[in-house]
Amino acid sequence: MSPVTPSPATEPRRSTRLRSTPANADADPDSEPRRSTPADADADPDPDAERERVSSRRKRQRKAADPDPDGEPERGPSRSRGKRQRTSAGNAAAGTRGSAAKVDGPKDAQQPAGAGADDAGSAIDDDICAEEPDVEDLQMGEEEDEEEGAAVQAGGEGSAETRGSGKKRVARPGARRKAVQDHFVGEPVPDGEARQRWPDRYAAKGSDSQAKRSDAEEEIGALRHYTTVCVDEANFHLGDDVYVKAAPGEDNYIGRITELFEGIDHGSHFTCRWFFRVEDTVISPKLLEVNDHKHDRKRVFLSEEKNDNMIESIISKVNIIYVSPNMTPEAKAQLISKCDLYYDMSYSVAYSTFANMPPENGGAMGSEAASDLSCDDVDYSKKKPIADIAAPHDEQMETATLLDLYSGCGAMSTGLCLGAAWSGLKLNTKWAVDMNTNACNSLKQNHTFTQVRNEKAEDFLSLLRHWDALCKKYDVHNSNSLPRTSNNDEDDENENLPEGTFEVEKLVDICYGDPNSTGKAGLWFKVRWKTYDPSYDTWEPSDGLSDSPERIKEFVESGYRESILPLPGCVDVICGGPPCQGISGLNRFRNYEDPLTDERNKQLIVFMDIVNYLRPKYVLMENVVDILKFADGFLGRYALSRLVAMSYQARLGMMVAGCYGLPQFRMRVFLWGALPSVVLPKFPLPTHDVINRGVVPNAFSQCLVAYNETEDKHLKEALVIRDAISDLPKVGNHQPNDVMDHRIRPKTEFQHYIRLNRKDMKDYSLGDATHKEGLLFDHQPLQLNNDDYERVQQIPVKKGANFRDLKGVRVGENNTVEFDPDIPRVLLSSGKPLVPSYAMTFIKGKSLKPFGRLWWDETVATVVTRAEPHNQIVLHPTQHRVLTIRENARLQGFPDYYRLSGPIKQKYIQVGNAVAVPVARALGYSLGQAYQGEFDGDYPLFKLPGNFIPMDQATLARLSEGTSGGEVVEAE
Ligand code: SAH
Repeated sequence: MSPVTPSPATEPRRSTRLRSTPANADADPDSEPRRSTPADADADPDPDAERERVSSRRKRQRKAADPDPDGEPERGPSRSRGKRQRTSAGNAAAGTRGSAAKVDGPKDAQQPAGAGADDAGSAIDDDICAEEPDVEDLQMGEEEDEEEGAAVQAGGEGSAETRGSGKKRVARPGARRKAVQDHFVGEPVPDGEARQRWPDRYAAKGSDSQAKRSDAEEEIGALRHYTTVCVDEANFHLGDDVYVKAAPGEDNYIGRITELFEGIDHGSHFTCRWFFRVEDTVISPKLLEVNDHKHDRKRVFLSEEKNDNMIESIISKVNIIYVSPNMTPEAKAQLISKCDLYYDMSYSVAYSTFANMPPENGGAMGSEAASDLSCDDVDYSKKKPIADIAAPHDEQMETATLLDLYSGCGAMSTGLCLGAAWSGLKLNTKWAVDMNTNACNSLKQNHTFTQVRNEKAEDFLSLLRHWDALCKKYDVHNSNSLPRTSNNDEDDENENLPEGTFEVEKLVDICYGDPNSTGKAGLWFKVRWKTYDPSYDTWEPSDGLSDSPERIKEFVESGYRESILPLPGCVDVICGGPPCQGISGLNRFRNYEDPLTDERNKQLIVFMDIVNYLRPKYVLMENVVDILKFADGFLGRYALSRLVAMSYQARLGMMVAGCYGLPQFRMRVFLWGALPSVVLPKFPLPTHDVINRGVVPNAFSQCLVAYNETEDKHLKEALVIRDAISDLPKVGNHQPNDVMDHRIRPKTEFQHYIRLNRKDMKDYSLGDATHKEGLLFDHQPLQLNNDDYERVQQIPVKKGANFRDLKGVRVGENNTVEFDPDIPRVLLSSGKPLVPSYAMTFIKGKSLKPFGRLWWDETVATVVTRAEPHNQIVLHPTQHRVLTIRENARLQGFPDYYRLSGPIKQKYIQVGNAVAVPVARALGYSLGQAYQGEFDGDYPLFKLPGNFIPMDQATLARLSEGTSGGEVVEAE
């Protein structure tokens, strides 16, 4: 079974191919576990969605995308993907210009096999149920149904393409009466030379070359080419940059003349390669008004997009210069002051890519550049602390530091480090920040060397500023060679302090915030008191310690030596998934007009503020697909806009976790940022086929990381639940032990892989520290209460089973459940009903989810953060319980050695919130490659190496001779 799609050099239909949907799944696209709260239950359709429905219908009537079999670079993905399509009025009217085909692009978002949508869930009206689903449970179901509706009707919201590339732009010939007609100047280019330079223009109709292009774009044949044209009595030459007349009310277009020719229609044409202003790109014009960042209005982006126009539409020359991203800010400023416009990057709609220019366009790919550290007067990058982990093995490997923001239990950074190691880069998660204490404990438990900061990201940023100031104040970067100051070396004579006297022995921690809940945020130090043990440590305000400057100095010096906090320029990579809870949920609580003012979306701003402050070489942001859907993808556009305004290269992709070897769909957005001085990472192509469970937002359909339909993919078979969990020992509903033996040998390639030890995974996060290996952690289900346990025991052990199989339920018209009037309501031993009312009324009685059983040959749409079986399919195929934390962790690709911390529900949350580890690992490989300067053309996707999923020969042999596939043999 192969997933996705056509060649990117053409108009890829990037879709994850539909495989028959498992019988018992309610065709449910993602329920977004983390950032989403309730979906909109209102019946009124989203106006954006309606707009998109209209436009997508229209788009589908247009000409199909052009299959372009030869993937020459200049005919690459960006060629025909501009948000704008500009053609001369004449051409447009004649309808021959092919722009319709070009703009059409891959609009057909795939349609999941979905049941009809239902827009509202139901309130719980059953007050006799002991444990009712809470609001979130119910709303989660609603949300999924809302998405189903959107998928079925429109293939998603979003309307960027109607605003941008979906709209045909028409360059207007000048309307004035001209004293002298516009004309070509001088002799034509000699025929032989012209045919060599522009062969397609001269290809006879019906020839191979012409035929090749005919689907793509009907190109006007040429009679002869020129090098100069006179328009409005001014001469323009090949290679000149010009303003081109646009439709009334639109800003003039900007382009570069790449051909001047007389067509076989005897018209005078020029070919224009377009520049994009920032507002012509994926960055919305609205973002020019956002006040936390600015774009230089002189900056434009050169695209690969070209088309033909009549020469009359040329208006005037414009002086556009190429500015190397590696220039010093002063040199750049001086250069820019002399031109009308400048460009330092290219832009391509495919994967919303802003990238350094390839050398043929004046770019300086791969050159060594000074880090662009304009934010700070101390360049710490040249004075790196030397506290990075000494490599226990692979001494020669290059190392890099990683800051994981909103780290949760650390899945994203873990995966990144694993993948980077595979590519030869030792990436160390040096710092991690999360406000959830349990998540921090999990991370710490698996990453001995990481400075785990249990605080809010916004406080972390304030702390960084203070820390930088302290480091400067104490001039720490010059005291690196100073001997360490002992913490206990003075005032020994004061050992016997009078009772009740507190004297600062040393400072042991620092934070910004309000640790004592005083109502006022500020800078605090944690104080160890002389003669008192650590249990007496207290947080003291920094200004209350003014009589202990030495202690502060010692703390700052040693903190600097140990890199307890990152300084600007010292972080190589920042990764993170800032929660944006304001984009999901009830319409009436969502701010469409200005999503950035919604407090629940604030973390996106904080994330970018931290990037802006620390200026890492690389950024990787993860988020839910809603950031590309809600309010015309405003937040996704904002994230790109911030990166681009900070002079980062950027690239956005939507990745499906299942494509990297999981029985889970889980589509997420990933956004790379890379300083202009480094290589921008690509997106890793899928390794596995996947069972389709999701919807790609229309406006960003060219950002789906997938193969083209026509490509030879060599993908591994899609995984199903059996592959992932069939080797796990049987456990009951009540399972108090969170550590046990595996008992059964791995049966599948996946199981073998997921059970590898840290060393074989190339996981350096514990260094040389010995750690329990080979045990099975967290294989515990959320314990159902007696009522639910009784119910679950009555759900048959068969594919597709759910509450509808319980006694007294029948399915009426429209696939709606009702109580069978002939059967008295069955009661549990507690006296409560066997079939709870909330199950009957959920999604107006149409849902198959309450108390649903998963089956061995199925996949899940998304591993979510909750384990209650009331409105989601989470029961084990053959055991009377919900999936355990470990089973969920398996579906998320956590290695078995990764142990979680906290109460059971918290562990489920950590796992459900996580970036699927195999996805992060694949991205880590790509980061490692880029980091080490590997640059293989400007194609945005790449193939992972064949041995990316490690498998030793012995295991391979055993797997091939032993139990086939994931045959289920349950241990007792
Ligand atoms: N990337 C993580 C998952 C992150 S889930 C992984 O792969 O495992 C989002 C996390 O953001 C949650 O753990 C939540 O506790 C944290 N969070 C939410 N708001 C925060 C804030 N203001 N500051 C710091 N962390 C926050």
